[in-house]
Amino acid sequence: MRMIPFECPNCGAQLNVVEGKTHMKCGWCGSDIMLRPDGNGVKASLNINVNVNVDRDEARIHEIDAKERSDKREHDLDSFVTKLHLIVPLVIAAIGAILAAVFFTVYAITENEGYASVGALGLIVFVYSLLFFAANDGNKKR
Ligand SMILES: [Zn+2]
Repeated sequence: MRMIPFECPNCGAQLNVVEGKTHMKCGWCGSDIMLRPDGNGVKASLNINVNVNVDRDEARIHEIDAKERSDKREHDLDSFVTKLHLIVPLVIAAIGAILAAVFFTVYAITENEGYASVGALGLIVFVYSLLFFAANDGNKKR
């Protein structure tokens, strides 16, 4: 199924139509558009029987609204990713701290050095995650 790009003859919006379709509605201005095959593309014209009042300004407003919405979505995603960069190291740091606390406690009770090494590992994870967090936080403020 080939998509053919064309411009809305009323508002100029960039549209696509499935090859072979002869008729569609513009998503921006609501114009009824007739399509005829034209070489490799299509020739678009307004269906004058249906388009009694097509409003160019209205279409522009819709187009700008849609652009603003998609800009906002991109911004939201950016701030989410930034937050994730800060939250993930903190979560890992917390897990490291808990591991260290638990295994050092078990080591203190059992005096089995195996527990101490896991505790040390937890401590290392904790320290490195905090360093990672600090580095990311610095990047954000720059
Ligand atoms: Zn249009």
